[in-house]
Amino acid sequence: MEQLGAPPAVRFELLVTDGAARRGRLETAHGVVDTPAFIPVGTRGTVKSLTPADLRESGAQIVLANTYHLFLRPGHELVRDLGGLHRFMAWDGPILTDSGGFQVFSLAKFRKITEDGVWFRSPIDGAERFLSPELAIEIQQALGADIIHPLDECLAHPATREQTEQSHRLTLGWARRSQVAHRRAQPAAQALFGIVQGGGYEELRRHAVEETVAIGFDGYAIGGMAVGEPKPLMLDLIELTASLLPVTQPRYLMGIGKPPDLVESVARGVDIFDCVLPTRNALNGQAFTWDGPVVLKQARFVRDARPLDAVCGCYTCRHFSRAYVRHLFVSGELLAYRLLTLHNLVYFQNLVAGMREAIASGGFAAFRARFFARYGVLSAGVSPDEDPTPEA
Ligand SMILES: [Zn+2]
Repeated sequence: MEQLGAPPAVRFELLVTDGAARRGRLETAHGVVDTPAFIPVGTRGTVKSLTPADLRESGAQIVLANTYHLFLRPGHELVRDLGGLHRFMAWDGPILTDSGGFQVFSLAKFRKITEDGVWFRSPIDGAERFLSPELAIEIQQALGADIIHPLDECLAHPATREQTEQSHRLTLGWARRSQVAHRRAQPAAQALFGIVQGGGYEELRRHAVEETVAIGFDGYAIGGMAVGEPKPLMLDLIELTASLLPVTQPRYLMGIGKPPDLVESVARGVDIFDCVLPTRNALNGQAFTWDGPVVLKQARFVRDARPLDAVCGCYTCRHFSRAYVRHLFVSGELLAYRLLTLHNLVYFQNLVAGMREAIASGGFAAFRARFFARYGVLSAGVSPDEDPTPEA
């Protein structure tokens, strides 16, 4: 809920539903995001190898940056002093920042969690650093993102019920303190989303939704998914969580995922996604296509004159063959990474655009069936390396 007297920092309009799938429009101070939306990950204030113009051309309407990484280097005060993150990275569209919790819990060595916050050792210089809910808000306000998040604890799966309950209580307490800190600063145009945790336990997820919504946020993120749990459980928990969240507010599934997961999650009522897959897997020589991933290191592409994806209109597919991109990749040429990243991001943007159109015309079920009839055809029999790993 926005503070009294102030307009909400973001405005979400639910335009059409088709089953549980939703077509919406999220208005921020830096522009509109059509949902379902995919957010490219710009970890350190850059989507690796791309310029902001490339991002625009890919169809991206919003970019994610990691609080944890920018806090450690170059530091949020420096970014603030140089005009904020939009200006620093020369991206004038919407920016979303995570709270840093996920990276602290997945990347940092030597963690000590207390009610106050979390101590960890910086991987850059080995110094001990402390992150509290209040500091996470202060950092994100200095960066100036359009959508920010409270510090949360992201548990790995499996965790015992007792561990999960304890973590859930910690995350809720931090969420309350984050909201107080956020309101105190009275940011004119910065939205605070709540993060729903609750681990792999249905009952705890229910509690997490109820209590997070009771605090009141501008939108809701579903956290702690794809942390090692089986896929059917993940989809069940996403379905449960989405079904309990307020209909009129945006729902953001953090860190997911593979194209089939995006389609299945939209079918369960999710609006917004981010994931390192299109950028991370470009580094591994993998191109996403409507037929499934193309793994360029495979010898079968040596003389393949076709583009990465026959139906893709991206710069890479308009100009280059699989054989050429493969040649660049196996030669260790930087251009391989750039061309693959460009293509992969266009693929993900086309995927969400396709879902938006399908929902708008009442044809989402048919879209989903067509997607699954085709996806993976190309890689049948091989196991592509497409597992998401935390952005390091
Ligand atoms: Zn392409």
